Amino acid sequence: MTGGNLTRDEAAERARLLTARHYAVELDLTRGDTTFGSRSTISFACAEPGAASFVDLLAPAVRSVTLNGVALDPAEVFDGARVHLAGLQAENVVVIDADAAYSRTGEGLHRFVDPVDGEVYLYTQFEPADSRRLFANFEQPDLKAAFQFTVTAPANWRVWSNESLEELTQDAAGANVWRFNATEPISTYITAIVAGDYHVVEDSHIVRLPDGSDLLIPVSAMVRKSLAPYFDAAAILEVTKAGLDFYHRIFDYPYPFGKYDSAFVPEYNLGAMENPGLVTFNEKMVFRSKTTDASYQGRANTIMHEMAHMWFGDLVTMKWWDDLWLKESFADFMGAYALVHATRWTSAWVSFANGRKAWAYRQDQLPSTHPIVADIRDLEDARLNFDGITYAKGASVLKQLAAYVGEDAFLEGARRYFQRHAFGNTTLNDLLEVLEETSGRDLKTWSRAWLETAGVNTLTAEIDTDAAGVVTAARIRQSAVPAFPTLRPHRIAVGGYSPNPATGAVELVERVELDVDGELTELPQLVGKPRPALVLLNDQDLTYAKIRFTAEEIAAFERGGIAALGDSMARALAWSGVWHMTRDAVVSGRRFLDIVLRNIEAETDISVVQNLLRQAGLVRSQYLDPANRAAADAKVSARLVELLAAAAPGSDHQVAFAYGAVRAASRDADFDRLKALLSGDLGYDGLTVDQDLRWAIIEELAAAGHDDDGVLADREAGTDDTADGRRHRAAARAARPLAEAKAEAWRLVVETPDQPNDLIGAVLGRFHHGDQEKLAEPYVEPYFEGLAAIWAERSIQNAERIVGGGYPWPLASDELLARTDAWLASDAAKAPALRRLVLEARDDAARALRAQECDREA
Ligand SMILES: [Zn+2]
Repeated sequence: MTGGNLTRDEAAERARLLTARHYAVELDLTRGDTTFGSRSTISFACAEPGAASFVDLLAPAVRSVTLNGVALDPAEVFDGARVHLAGLQAENVVVIDADAAYSRTGEGLHRFVDPVDGEVYLYTQFEPADSRRLFANFEQPDLKAAFQFTVTAPANWRVWSNESLEELTQDAAGANVWRFNATEPISTYITAIVAGDYHVVEDSHIVRLPDGSDLLIPVSAMVRKSLAPYFDAAAILEVTKAGLDFYHRIFDYPYPFGKYDSAFVPEYNLGAMENPGLVTFNEKMVFRSKTTDASYQGRANTIMHEMAHMWFGDLVTMKWWDDLWLKESFADFMGAYALVHATRWTSAWVSFANGRKAWAYRQDQLPSTHPIVADIRDLEDARLNFDGITYAKGASVLKQLAAYVGEDAFLEGARRYFQRHAFGNTTLNDLLEVLEETSGRDLKTWSRAWLETAGVNTLTAEIDTDAAGVVTAARIRQSAVPAFPTLRPHRIAVGGYSPNPATGAVELVERVELDVDGELTELPQLVGKPRPALVLLNDQDLTYAKIRFTAEEIAAFERGGIAALGDSMARALAWSGVWHMTRDAVVSGRRFLDIVLRNIEAETDISVVQNLLRQAGLVRSQYLDPANRAAADAKVSARLVELLAAAAPGSDHQVAFAYGAVRAASRDADFDRLKALLSGDLGYDGLTVDQDLRWAIIEELAAAGHDDDGVLADREAGTDDTADGRRHRAAARAARPLAEAKAEAWRLVVETPDQPNDLIGAVLGRFHHGDQEKLAEPYVEPYFEGLAAIWAERSIQNAERIVGGGYPWPLASDELLARTDAWLASDAAKAPALRRLVLEARDDAARALRAQECDREA
């Protein structure tokens, strides 16, 4: 990757040698649109006077370096990524004056110009190691210091940073100079700047502390001006305040960072970032069009996740990126936990079970999976570790830990952890230590089984019955794949569900809780009783494991057996089990679609409905035998059109089925219907064909060859001349089934450096299409031949999207796997992080081939 890597060993050595004390960072944002002035004055101590070390900096030019009053020659001490300092004293001051570059890829100080009004918006994003693109510093989490930012900016802008404003003055040129108070001791990766003429809504919140005193926390929410009409700041601040109350109640440690600003920012690479006092969010969480409650729940979950980090991550921080999972798993767990206990989304564990955990299970079955406690050798490893293991599997395992030690002991452990390590750095052992204290349990064995090994177990019920259907023997079989053979102790519930003859509803008839350990665990509680129609392992979702159903149970699902389940968590788990069996080529893609089409109408949890529609889309494009595709597509489309017509006007289900029907369009009549929806000739009571839905329709029409000249997309972009509109236009153009459309898209995002990541994601998301195999062929060789250069020259965020999105998955075949293997065996495949991404893409293709084979034989 561009920019210097930093290894764990180098960071450990630097932390041993140096103590960072204070940074004064002066930024000048009035010097044009490519670079800005960045002057960093760092006070630090050195344990071994005379020793040498270095400061991290990624900047196009260094003007001067002064160490303890002595000017050094930048040409000699700056190598493009590090400023080398020799002859350190016990106490030092280094001043580094640089021209730093604005980012277009969301790494460092991102600069965005709004096409609607020409306004400029800036924000920073640093994790894991991009604050060195803003100012010279010791870029590692365990060299915490106080940071004082001073920012010179155009007179019409406002500027925010982690701390509150100390002083606002004007310089001789009429620019404003914003000087902020120094922060508490924090890590470099959570420092932050937001600047521009943002639309901001300000408020404050008073938290009552346990000693009876009040803590006043100024809160705000901001977004760029052209999105202000869609900005529901009141709803955002309501969740923010509920979170502040809730975390004060359970953490018993006053919010340590003064104010709480939430900035919704454009072209953002991730969901959000927990900068203390100044959280940044992806502005996609400001909804321009009607969306379902799942989106609002997801946004509230993100708000709670980031806020949990103020304590777990910001106040107490991991020593090195090995323990990234500690803060992410905790925050992910807390996101759902806080929703359940402090908001109206009291069923948040259902979407966690069906959605968030699906991410973990998928990641855990890739060849690149790793233990939750990962071995992070350097920053490249760290960047790729923001994955489903670190977040969702870690959170699932913490959920189980909370069940294992008890919720009270779990929360008391967190409280002690904050008290004991405030403003410090920790490793896993520090957390286990407090939890052992509060629970009285030995957690070393638990940690080894769950945190230090990779892979997911599968649980299968084996039940023998006599001729009358009475259970004569019952046991649970635990298995693992050969590559990751660990069998684990699981605390689980087993639910027995049978139809109520009077109502037809499938109801709980028996629930037992037990410990599963080893390969076979007897289940004597079921013996002597009639076999329930459905035996649901991991009922209530206590553990982290895949579950299997019998052929009879799957057949019952096909007849509506999931819809008949009254309990929404039980349905979510049934859905997850069927999905795993489909991914594992045990249930055919066509059967999965049949089960979805038969049961989805009754699904009340909208996040589950939308997840099922996404899974059905993946099955249609990748998991069906090609000979079965047309018939399956027609069936799916017809049913979704029916569901759309039957949905309650104005309901979330209507919105979900509208998008579902658009994305499933496959027959001429479907495309005629889409055109009529677009023109207004066709409508559904309560459904507004708003901007996002219009773009979804246009992209689908384009992919099917109904906009080959690009006129539809051009016309729409004319009326929606926004950043969103431009991105959708590019995606629609890339979707067209034409060689020149693919060439244009490839030039735009693969061959042109430094494009915004959401443009790359949108265009490559449409570049390959399930039925465009022929058009993918010319890009197989350029893809493999270009990988090494892409990796060497592009930002990691750019490269990651191109490596994943460019992989020619419509050509999944033994030949493609062989071509991938040849690349993996070549010199080009040396970078471990690049290798990992290609291995993952290959695994998806191999899985698709197995699923297609299953569908062929079914
Ligand atoms: Zn997080």
